[in-house]
Amino acid sequence: MLNFFNDFIINTKGSDYITTGGTSGKPLGFYIDKNRKGFEWFWMNHNWSKIGMSMKDYKGTLTNHKLNGKKFNIDTLIKEYQYDNFSLNDSYINFVVNHINSLKLKYFRAYPSAAFTICKYLEKQNIKTTLRAFLCGSENILSQQKQLIQDTLKIRMYTWYGHSEKLILAGEETSCENYHSNPFYGYTEIIDDNGNVIKEPGAVGELVGTGFINTKMPFIRYRTGDYAEYVGDSCKNCGHIGLTFRKVKGRWQGDKIHKSDGSSITTTALNLHSKYYNYIKGLQYYQEKLGEIELRIIPETNLTSDLKDEILRELSIKAGKGLKIKLIEVEFLELSAINKFQLLIQKLKLSS
Ligand SMILES: [Zn+2]
Repeated sequence: MLNFFNDFIINTKGSDYITTGGTSGKPLGFYIDKNRKGFEWFWMNHNWSKIGMSMKDYKGTLTNHKLNGKKFNIDTLIKEYQYDNFSLNDSYINFVVNHINSLKLKYFRAYPSAAFTICKYLEKQNIKTTLRAFLCGSENILSQQKQLIQDTLKIRMYTWYGHSEKLILAGEETSCENYHSNPFYGYTEIIDDNGNVIKEPGAVGELVGTGFINTKMPFIRYRTGDYAEYVGDSCKNCGHIGLTFRKVKGRWQGDKIHKSDGSSITTTALNLHSKYYNYIKGLQYYQEKLGEIELRIIPETNLTSDLKDEILRELSIKAGKGLKIKLIEVEFLELSAINKFQLLIQKLKLSS
């Protein structure tokens, strides 16, 4: 697609240029309507309303935005108490949990791995919370996360599938935990290795999306690099009409980086600013020791040492305390045993 980039543009007026997390070491940049955020917000709230949340409800959110040394921030427009996703050690979790309880918040938006970290703390300290649900997207959902949060702590873990290309949005229902694609947001298909559309329940294939939101650079039958199990063209469980799937294995697989203080961050949170991709052909994170990562970069010829310092500075600010980052230049990125690109090569073995 990159070779024919301009041919895909209808126009760029009223658009933003954004980049995705990428499926090959180099993210895909594209134009998309500025007003996508309104559409997205409407449909996200529609999803969350399935578990009783109203747009009037304030919720807690772990954010990747800088809080400038403050312990939390309040966004009155979207009704959020925002907490720092980069500081999830025991003492900060303790502050967040007490704050949630004092405000009697019922909903909390977080990466699944962060929700799990908070819930492990709740379980260990035997703390009760006012939360009724965690709202979790953007990462693979592991069964041990659902078990602890839903079965042990009796807090709903409401999850959905979505991505920055804004082609597919699919959420759980009130009691059904399959993903139900939203037919007003985009057209969703699941295809097998030969490109054929899957219609057999239980079969696994790649999610392919045709979005209805982007009028600047439409994506038609775009392969997302994410995989899921086909359930049906409707859901027998809850009656949803539209493609239904489950067990999503996303591009985000295995993307936790562990810091020296025991907290962790995801590669999604370390997302490098798109301008740097003009200077690099690809990048990959590699972790072997707690609190340290290598940032492996395939450089373009115009990557200067000043730019390398700038990249390191930006990532160090995003990573916060407890993570040393070393930049090294490489010729190739490591692929998995089945020749798939992995953004993070994780060699650390931790017990939990
Ligand atoms: Zn269902």
